[in-house]
Amino acid sequence: MNGLRVKVRIRCKHCGEKFVLRGRKEKERVETGFKQCLCNNKSDFDIEME
Ligand SMILES: [Zn+2]
Repeated sequence: MNGLRVKVRIRCKHCGEKFVLRGRKEKERVETGFKQCLCNNKSDFDIEME
């Protein structure tokens, strides 16, 4: 079963780069396939879902 489709906005807290991705909301997390920012930050982000 596919999760709910959501639009996810991610902003890197290190360099301020913004990304807009489509993801699927699973039970407790959102799967976007996003791996890391251009600055190699992998874990420090502001994340908003629409
Ligand atoms: Zn960054």
